[in-house]
Amino acid sequence: MKQVFSDYLRSRSYDRFDVRAVLFDMDGVLYNSMPAHEKSWQQTAREFNLKAEPNEFFLLEGRTGSSTINILFERTLGRKATAKEIQRIYSRKTELFSRYNTGEVIPGAGELLKLVQSEGLQCILVTGSGQPSLIDKLEGHFPGIFTSETMVTGFDVKIGKPNPEPFLMGLQKGGNLKPWQALVVENAPLGTEAARRAGIFTIDVNTGPLPDKVLYDAGANLVFPNMSALLDQFPEILKSVRT
Ligand code: CA
Repeated sequence: MKQVFSDYLRSRSYDRFDVRAVLFDMDGVLYNSMPAHEKSWQQTAREFNLKAEPNEFFLLEGRTGSSTINILFERTLGRKATAKEIQRIYSRKTELFSRYNTGEVIPGAGELLKLVQSEGLQCILVTGSGQPSLIDKLEGHFPGIFTSETMVTGFDVKIGKPNPEPFLMGLQKGGNLKPWQALVVENAPLGTEAARRAGIFTIDVNTGPLPDKVLYDAGANLVFPNMSALLDQFPEILKSVRT
């Protein structure tokens, strides 16, 4: 495993790691919410007669609602959606998502957050989600880990993934950290691309149906099949960045 860390440093012309924080994505990393996103987008597309591919919304994960709707419109109708259409379609998708979302936590996520914290590293949340009561929800499932000072949410970001902006904001929230002072945990191609463009070593947990190759192609430095596998290997990862 050591090789991937030295390859990363060399390719970026960084001297060494000095890890102070781990930046965690939320959907598909901390919560198993992606199947409900996929299901509600697929149903919304059918209801509005828009063409969608199977598992397409795992690939588009991280995009804003309007940009996702425009992709379906361009394909089906050869034009962008109007503001009114976006509003109608996105509100239906949101309604279905709240019906299908179970709120289930990814197995191993809580343990990994605690391990990171016990190693003296900051846990920082980086998500495009703009749920109003996000902080309460996180405190309920992962008590004592995140505060409003250690979260980047849909209320902070202007551009969103795959732009590096959310992860650059995460580095700032960690105390103006440099890319070699953090690690990212992601699950999706666009989020991985954003982290790569922010220059941060990116660890993916492949909690969805896409092949690992899609994540490596997006720039993942390491890909684990699930959170428990990452949890197992995390002490080894820390050893590699601390030597
Ligand atoms: Ca995600």
